[in-house]
Amino acid sequence: LNFRSVSFRSAHMYQSEFEIIRRYFAESGLYFDKSGVELGIGDDAALLQVPEDKLLALSMDILVESVHFPMSADPGLVANRALAVNLSDLAAMAAEPFCFTLGLVLPDNDEHWLQEFSQGLLPLARKYNCPLVGGDITRGPLSICIQVQGLCEKHHAVRRSGACVGDKIYVSGTLGDGAIALASLAQESHLGKSFALISENISANCRQYFENAYYKPEPRIELARRTASLLSSGIDISDGLLGDLGHITQASGVGAKLSVNLLPFSASAICCMSEENRLLAALHGGDDYELCCTLPANNCAQFEEQARQADTPVTCIGEIVAGSGIVCVDEAGNSLSIEAASYQHF
Ligand code: ADP
Ligand code: MG
Repeated sequence: LNFRSVSFRSAHMYQSEFEIIRRYFAESGLYFDKSGVELGIGDDAALLQVPEDKLLALSMDILVESVHFPMSADPGLVANRALAVNLSDLAAMAAEPFCFTLGLVLPDNDEHWLQEFSQGLLPLARKYNCPLVGGDITRGPLSICIQVQGLCEKHHAVRRSGACVGDKIYVSGTLGDGAIALASLAQESHLGKSFALISENISANCRQYFENAYYKPEPRIELARRTASLLSSGIDISDGLLGDLGHITQASGVGAKLSVNLLPFSASAICCMSEENRLLAALHGGDDYELCCTLPANNCAQFEEQARQADTPVTCIGEIVAGSGIVCVDEAGNSLSIEAASYQHF
């Protein structure tokens, strides 16, 4: 391999790079004024002013074509998902979105793709007042890397490590929809061949519901903003409840008792999936981007009230216990054996 030939941009890429940045990023509405952003796109680096009483939270997610989204996927939906999953990480820390940067690896200069992609970032960037302040573009196999910056109240950043024995465990929204969406979109999943819809002929409403669940997960920013001071720990569910709750129990040095009969499912999940596969999707599926958090029992009423005001459904699904690991129990309190297999990236 000739080092110079891979490190130099092609003449075509070189000529159009600044034009791409201008058209699709700097002047597309994604870069807008915000207090604290002293300088955004256009210089060698962006300049940010972090308030004295805040901590800067940084998080990054990489999405690679054919690994994290299908080859044929709608660029606007991919963009929305890419930003949503990043914002979900900020929500999991109870950080207020501040701004984001974008690294793009593009196979070619596809104007239609760029246009749809950049417009697909707009709704969430606007909704969460989170402007694009910089990035980089280079040529190669399609991948999207977003880094979000957020601001946490110094004493209310929600970590994985604060859960205490006796705390209640809550999740937002419904579980399993992200994994079921892959089955609905006829994508392979790590859950095996028997993980399939009850029937190929599910209703158009259900298909649409799952497509939205996959491409438009709602980052739980508002819930986190309202409840940060009530929580002892939190994480967003990207790899399946057991794996992600497992990060909390491990980081906190505790165990958890999970009541599987309390797990919240969507009407579409109940309609389109067997009970067994639903459970598999919730526990091991991933891609849900709901929050899983723990809180002292005394805070539950206030937490539920704030969740109501944020218009975010929440469900208590178990409690933190002494020891280590997660025990799943049925309605009668008998422990169930459920194979551990949450999504592993390698
Ligand atoms: P440099 O060579 O100094 O890294 P670039 O030519 O890569 O600068 O980028 C010029 C400006 O455009 C920088 O401010 C950079 O942050 C911004 N930029 C580059 N790519 C993107 C992108 N995909 N989205 C937003 N801003 C970008
Ligand atoms: Mg650069």
